[in-house]
Amino acid sequence: MWPGEHRSAFAFTFDLDAEALWLDDDLVLNDAVLRSHGRYATQVAVPAILELLDGHDVAATFFVVGMVAEAYPHVISQILDAGHEVAAHGYTHRSPIDLSAKERGTELERVREVLTHVGAEVAGYRAPSWQLPPKGIVELDAQGFGYSSNLMDSVHPYRHPGTRVVELPIHWTLDDSPFLLFDPRDWSGEIRSNKVVSEIWRSEGAAIHEMGGATVLALHPQLIGRPGRLALLEEMLDFATGLDGAWIARCTDIAQQVSDLE
Ligand SMILES: [Zn+2]
Repeated sequence: MWPGEHRSAFAFTFDLDAEALWLDDDLVLNDAVLRSHGRYATQVAVPAILELLDGHDVAATFFVVGMVAEAYPHVISQILDAGHEVAAHGYTHRSPIDLSAKERGTELERVREVLTHVGAEVAGYRAPSWQLPPKGIVELDAQGFGYSSNLMDSVHPYRHPGTRVVELPIHWTLDDSPFLLFDPRDWSGEIRSNKVVSEIWRSEGAAIHEMGGATVLALHPQLIGRPGRLALLEEMLDFATGLDGAWIARCTDIAQQVSDLE
């Protein structure tokens, strides 16, 4: 299913939540320290990540929260100028399953509008916290989104029957937050070493490669962008570029490939 001689696909994706990650809870609105966690993502992490991607000649996908794009339009421009894809990650970071259908529709419209305004061609959507209501895919189709990167039912991208939406399946195993997110609000989450995480990601990536699927690594600039963890990202870039026959591509290119096959 992959172009040319390629046997599998590999996508580097980054969810740019910044402060929006921490704003779901009213208690944190007045916490300058908590908000600064998010600001680190735009000030320090994204520039460092862009440099690493450039050094490996890898094009990635950034799923961006609309509010974040409004607050930091220059950061979104930097991402686009470097040849990466910008896709939607909600207008706010509220979970879609806590919203009404009307509110979800407004979220999709607003995030698309904001991202388009800064120059992105928005094709895909990843739900905040990876939570989608049963009608979520149909709603994306109705709003003209070409792909979703939310469900965990395969390692091969596929088109949702009866819609134009291509799924790029993901899994918590390939997300950095279960391993690297420490939440100071309730002291949940355990900070793990690069070695432990790298071992999990490389074994998962190698197995998906053997199966001919798509490895979708889901990272957060404020987590993977800590100084010591950039080495982990670099290790994964070396790993992916070293996989014989892996097509490293942006999500939109993978979705297009699946659509073109039909
Ligand atoms: Zn998020």
